[in-house]
Formats: sequence, structure tokens, C-alpha cells
Amino acid sequence: MTAHQLNAIEVSALDKWYGSFHVLKTIDLRVAAGERIVVCGPSGSGKSTLIRCINRLEEHQRGSICVNGIMLGDSVKNLDAIRREVGMVFQHFNLFPHLTVKENCALPQILSRGRRRREAEDMARHFLEKVRIPEQADKYPGQLSGGQQQRVAIARALCMTPKIMLFDEPTSALDPEMVKEVLDTMVTLAEEGMTMIVVTHEMGFARRVADRVVFMEDGQVKEVNTPAAFFDAPAQESTKRFLANIM
Ligand code: ADP
Ligand code: MG
Repeated sequence: MTAHQLNAIEVSALDKWYGSFHVLKTIDLRVAAGERIVVCGPSGSGKSTLIRCINRLEEHQRGSICVNGIMLGDSVKNLDAIRREVGMVFQHFNLFPHLTVKENCALPQILSRGRRRREAEDMARHFLEKVRIPEQADKYPGQLSGGQQQRVAIARALCMTPKIMLFDEPTSALDPEMVKEVLDTMVTLAEEGMTMIVVTHEMGFARRVADRVVFMEDGQVKEVNTPAAFFDAPAQESTKRFLANIM
């Protein structure tokens, strides 16, 4: 990587309040293109809020967020541009229950990318194969297992050809036997060079995939470290407490 390579994400001195509640406190985070970041920390520490700010599902009040060189400001034009760069996968899948799997993947491309149906369906087929559930294309989400639904959600996001993927606890609503199939999909994506921010407590995944682990507590980034150092020699007392609780 060259020193002057553009960062995929630059979060600088970010502050956010929900009403009077200071939820994000002067967050700084830079993510290089192709880098994989795992974010962990106790419930309520602001992890979801942080990644939701990055694609403007939440608004921040102070500081700046820059995604692939596009400044996330007041302009709706930039908002559209950033949503093109960034795909998101949620804990609860958020699929459209009344649309088939194929249509879940195709319709957003037609509506917000202006793709023709034929092209959108080809993309849907391609990415459903990639997450290894092409045979589920004509079913409805309710007919699928949780793990399959989450893989549809990943395929749907990939159909929009994002350069960055954000995952918010993608496996925490799944039965244990389905966690691996979703993590395997994410590992493949990582190996192909996708820039990723993954909020997860799956520490095996973090060790295997993450370039850096970001630990959040009380709205602050308390530690940023390599997975090896983070797990085996955490720098902060709060990190040690957190790890003692989850392992
Ligand atoms: P995490 O994802 O780390 O569990 P969140 O970002 O979801 O944390 O939430 C951080 C804090 O902000 C929590 O105390 C939560 O209750 C609060 N919070 C989250 N969303 C809202 C909201 N829309 N309005 C008010 N408070 C919120
Ligand atoms: Mg959360």
C-alpha cells in the first residue's frame, strides 16, 4: 500500500448526541482501502450508532466523515453518492417479506441504480450463487432459515456493487449452527479484498480476518490494535474486563 493512498473511510473528531445523551465522543477512525476492521465493545457503547453514521442512517453533530473522498455533509447529492459506495447488513436481515429472494436482490437495483430488469436479475443470480443459495431464488424470506436469510441480505447488498461493506452484528440473531455459514461468506468477501467494518463479538472471525480491532466503550474508542495484541496482550484495563466477560 502506498503512503498517499486514499483512505476508504475517514472519521474525524466525530460527536453525536441523541437529544442530550452524548452517544459518540470525539471518534477518530481511518480505514484504508481493502482493510478489514472489527468493532467490538459492550452493549450500548455506540457501535451501531457509529456505523450507521458512516452511511447516514444517523446524523452526527460535530466532526466529519469522508467516504472514498466524498464528504458526508448537508448535500443530498453526496448522500446518494455515499450510499453507492457503502453496503450495509443488519442483525435482523431487513429483507422485504412480501418479495421473493430474487426480487429482494433485483428491485433495489432497478429502483435506485436505474438498472434494467434483465441486468438486475443477472446480478441477483450471480450474487446468490456467490453466497451459495441460488436454489432459493424463488422462495420468500419467511421460507428460509436465518442463516439463509442473512446470506440473501449480503447478496442484496453486493448487488449494489459497493466498495465498502458495513456489518452490524450479522450473526447475533442466528442459531449457533447457522453462524458459520454466514461468517464463511464474510471471510470469502474479505479474502477478495472488500473494505469491511464488522461489528461482531465473533472473536474467531476477528482473529482470522481483521487487520485491526477497534474496542469501544461509553461512546469512545478505547483501544485499536491488531487482533493478536488485542486478544493476547490488551493494552487497556477496560479491554481486559470486556474480554474476560465474553470469553
Ligand atoms: P451498541 O450498538 O454498541 O449496542 P448503540 O449505538 O445501539 O450501541 O447505542 C448506544 C447508546 O445510544 C445506547 O445507550 C442506546 O440506548 C442509545 N440509543 C441508540 N439509538 C438511540 C436513539 N435512536 N435514540 C436515543 N438513544 C439511542
Ligand atoms: Mg448495536
